[in-house]
Amino acid sequence: MLTPDELERYDRQLMIKGFGEEGQRRLKKAKAVIAGAGGLGSVSAIYLAVAGIGKIRLIDHDRVDPSNLNRQILHWERDIGRKKVASASEKLSQFNSAVNVEMVDEMITEDNASRLVDGFDLIVDAMDNLPARYLLNRAALEGNLPFFHGAIHGFEGRVMTIIPGESACLGCVYRGLVPESRFPAIGVTPAVIGCIQATEVIKYVVGIGRLLTNRLLVYDGLAMTFTELKIKRDHNCRFCGGPGKS
Ligand SMILES: [Zn+2]
Repeated sequence: MLTPDELERYDRQLMIKGFGEEGQRRLKKAKAVIAGAGGLGSVSAIYLAVAGIGKIRLIDHDRVDPSNLNRQILHWERDIGRKKVASASEKLSQFNSAVNVEMVDEMITEDNASRLVDGFDLIVDAMDNLPARYLLNRAALEGNLPFFHGAIHGFEGRVMTIIPGESACLGCVYRGLVPESRFPAIGVTPAVIGCIQATEVIKYVVGIGRLLTNRLLVYDGLAMTFTELKIKRDHNCRFCGGPGKS
């Protein structure tokens, strides 16, 4: 049940058609892993927290660097040198003290990826490199967890929702390993992409709208265009294809 305080706090979203108290109760029960407390993770975590998601497990092993401040809005000047998970969880609890925020100060590896998402309902891909995204993609498929992919590069971004067993996965989209080390980034881009990821999570949990599955949304902030690329599930995909896979 929702408390009188919750009914007041979430009043405006309860008014949304198809949302209502049942939608809010679903959000309150939902447990999300957000992999990465950088630009995308800052934005998706803030908007999931203020929407009233029940639990966020935030995974990041970095410390706040001055060069993060142009886009990683959960981290402020005073946080330079602090662990990102500590800085992020402090801010998130002030955005919404009812959200259970759990910090995981670990690097995502082949050995721990499945354990890190075990017991959760969904994964937000807020990483900055393809090898880590692939580890999460595999963990999502193995755990049958929806996976909300987002990526940025300069003024460009990409976003797609993956429902294991139903829609194309990350391996169906990207072939091989694209080297990503230090790439250009400006805060407005993860703001747009992270917000779309959070929108998709809310839609999925509440059970409304049409998810961004089998569609890669490509955003170009300079041309100010959103282009939708149709993605087909690849039955030879090294992650979700092959015999015996649904
Ligand atoms: Zn696939």
